[in-house]
Amino acid sequence: MKALQYRTVGAAPEVVTVPDPEPGPGQVLLKVTAAGVCHSDIAVMSWPAENFPYPLPLTLGHEGVGTVAALGAGVTGLSEGDAVAVYGPWGCGTCAKCAEGKENYCLRAAELGIMPPGLGSPGSMAEYMIVDDPRHLVPLEGLDPVAAVPLTDAGLTPYHAIKRSLPKLVAGSTAVVIGTGGLGHVAIQLLRAMTPARVVALDVTEHKLELARAVGAHDAVLSDAQAAGKVRDLTSGTGAQAVFDFVGVEPTVRTAAAVAGVEADVAIVGIGGAALPVGFGLLPFEVSVTAPYWGTRAELMEVLALARSGAVSVHTETFSLDDAPLAYERLHAGTINGRAVILPNG
Ligand code: NAD
Ligand code: ZN
Ligand code: ZN
Repeated sequence: MKALQYRTVGAAPEVVTVPDPEPGPGQVLLKVTAAGVCHSDIAVMSWPAENFPYPLPLTLGHEGVGTVAALGAGVTGLSEGDAVAVYGPWGCGTCAKCAEGKENYCLRAAELGIMPPGLGSPGSMAEYMIVDDPRHLVPLEGLDPVAAVPLTDAGLTPYHAIKRSLPKLVAGSTAVVIGTGGLGHVAIQLLRAMTPARVVALDVTEHKLELARAVGAHDAVLSDAQAAGKVRDLTSGTGAQAVFDFVGVEPTVRTAAAVAGVEADVAIVGIGGAALPVGFGLLPFEVSVTAPYWGTRAELMEVLALARSGAVSVHTETFSLDDAPLAYERLHAGTINGRAVILPNG
């Protein structure tokens, strides 16, 4: 079968032919219908060889939906042809966090060498993929595969971050979304569907801000040195109750700190690597800063349910598997608006 692989540290990913995978005991083989292109893959492909954490070659793709093509020995509860979404942050399934459905925070994944598809295990950018356990699959139940696939990360990750801050996002509150790309443009829609908050979006080009407004941002502000002042003015000087930074670089975490009000939540979701110092007098009183990772199994079900209700619609641009390297180039250049989706069997 064809697969998009990251083969050599520092080189572009390549479309190659690899052996067709077969499901072992307990595993599920999916025929992949759609695979989402996440900016985290670009970060992965920029890491140096010395401490690169995954085995190479690596089949990319940690957002995947497909149809069940074959069941490994002992798998029950699924049938060939079922349309499913893959819950990506695989855990051990039995530790205290996994027992709560928080496999994204599995206590034993590192020790047991369990790695998500596309982030260590073979991913969704291939004609077929292996899913280690049927519990990692959620039925699509009528959702369109292209529209649904970004929900497994670009939907689930902001959903998890927003859910934690719901008690603060009451009527009259303000939520700030920094970076309105794949994750950010879904975050705006989730905030509008889940809260009465005023949503203020920041990005670096007018093109991105247009999408932010189109998907529901009340205000869209260019992310420059004046941005924090403009956002504070929009809140009559008191600042926002929640800030979601989908970039995580020095200028954006500084903006996040500058727009946070007292008792605000600041979630640094982007993996730009910048730090936000926390200490008395450094931030408004009782600001809480977190760096969340992906979301829980139950939250993926909730995000898919929200999408079925029509509350979320992901802006997508599709590419063939042969054109997948181009999708990454375009994402790197900042010219994807919304989420790029690969069709490995299209
Ligand atoms: P994306 O490229 O689709 O979106 C990023 C957006 O940020 C773009 O629209 C870009 O124009 C904008 N941007 C860049 N610099 C900016 C600045 N200075 N101010 C405001 N906006 C700026 O990327 P994505 O796939 O949505 O991922 C967003 C980030 O989240 C990445 O860092 C990714 O690695 C990370 N991520 C984290 C998790 C997690 O679990 N923590 C999960 C998925 C992705
Ligand atoms: Zn991702
Ligand atoms: Zn676990």
